[in-house]
Amino acid sequence: MMHTERPILDHLEVGVIITDHDLVVYEWNRFLQMHTQLPREAVIGKRLDELFVQIESAVLRRKIRTTLRLRESTFYRPIAVAYCVPVPIKRFIQHDLRYMVQRVSISPYDESKGQVLLSIYDETDSRIAQLELEKEMQKVGRLNANLTQEQEIIDKNLMMLKTDLGGSIVEVSSALCAFYGYEREELIGKNPSVFRHKAMSSVVFRDLWERLSRGESWRGEVQNLLANGKDHWVDVLILPFYDEHGSITYYVGIYHDISDRKRLESLYVTDSLTKLFNRYFFDQQMKSIFFGKRRAKSLSMMLIDIDHFKQVNDTFGHRSGDVLLQEFTEVMRATLRSSDVCIRMGGEEFAVLLLGAELVEACSAAEHLREEIEKYRFTEVGHLTCSIGVAQRSDADSADSFYERTDVLLYVAKTQGRNRIAHDAILTSNP
Ligand code: GH3
Ligand code: MG
Ligand code: MG
Repeated sequence: MMHTERPILDHLEVGVIITDHDLVVYEWNRFLQMHTQLPREAVIGKRLDELFVQIESAVLRRKIRTTLRLRESTFYRPIAVAYCVPVPIKRFIQHDLRYMVQRVSISPYDESKGQVLLSIYDETDSRIAQLELEKEMQKVGRLNANLTQEQEIIDKNLMMLKTDLGGSIVEVSSALCAFYGYEREELIGKNPSVFRHKAMSSVVFRDLWERLSRGESWRGEVQNLLANGKDHWVDVLILPFYDEHGSITYYVGIYHDISDRKRLESLYVTDSLTKLFNRYFFDQQMKSIFFGKRRAKSLSMMLIDIDHFKQVNDTFGHRSGDVLLQEFTEVMRATLRSSDVCIRMGGEEFAVLLLGAELVEACSAAEHLREEIEKYRFTEVGHLTCSIGVAQRSDADSADSFYERTDVLLYVAKTQGRNRIAHDAILTSNP
């Protein structure tokens, strides 16, 4: 070591060691003295692998021999333990980094003595950055795993499908396939109308497409068919999805099975003996007609009461009375239009709501019904008649006043001798 060189090495802010292929130390600069707390005297003349047992001496020796042979610098990066000589790190680091992470450059120094110069560079910061990155990557990996798990949960449990703008199915969840009883391949490319039940009005679907084409979502209750031909009800929500230019790219439909609710609802509004609607349904209908948007249309009502029904019970027994009520219902259904809503109000009293009907039409329907009942021969009982009150809703009517006026007219028909209809002629459009 020439005397002029030591001060240069001592001024460097990197660790410098002069050694040979036996790893004997010939120089140990100030940077290393200060940072390792090992003075020159403690190191010079010793072997690096005696001083620092963690050194991968075989690798380092080979690298040194290569450097000497090729006469050019090589790099050596300690692998198993990330440092060549332990330089404690003073600042707090979270990753168990107690010693400076090092990269060592090996340069030829004195070829005649087989000596090389090891420069020890601090790579701690880049190692920290790498560890941070790895931690983030692990987080992202965990998030991805969670996402996949969530997607799986959704796929298995949520009935969902995705269609293109033309309505062809491009994706469908396992839950929906399982519920409808189709394989995924059977549904891809098809229109959701494969589920359509013939009882569903096309008006519903026109409304659906109108809304969707305006970029709005649509929600409604739809009666559908399963692959096995069974029918059921679903609540369907359809949402348009947009691309970054604001154009609709596809639609997503989310389905919920509401068959149980529909069954319950129908039980709630059905009379168990005749299967007609019940009084509760009548009240609900009147509410929605009088408080809803359907006011514009004309509306007429019949109230029907069987004449001398008590005698039927007294003569033939209660059971025969029940059978008669069922037969009476059959005649009503056969005589009236399917759009006329028939209700059993209780006992042997019935109501019919004729949506869109003026009084004249309602009266002729009532007269027709009265005649059919009079003509009909009932099992056991035989001949039977009924009385009917008929009224058309006036602008002044509330739900209650409309019902009461019709009820009074039924009473009029009874007091005028039964087996007849009574109507409020004042309301007739052609008196
Ligand atoms: P009118 O209406 O002509 O004045 O005579 P009516 O005998 O029909 O009179 P009312 O309305 O007073 O009697 C109705 C009878 O209907 C009373 C009851 O015995 C019978 N009834 C009521 N509900 C039922 C039912 O669910 N099943 C049977 N079998 N009979 C019923
Ligand atoms: Mg009665
Ligand atoms: Mg009666």
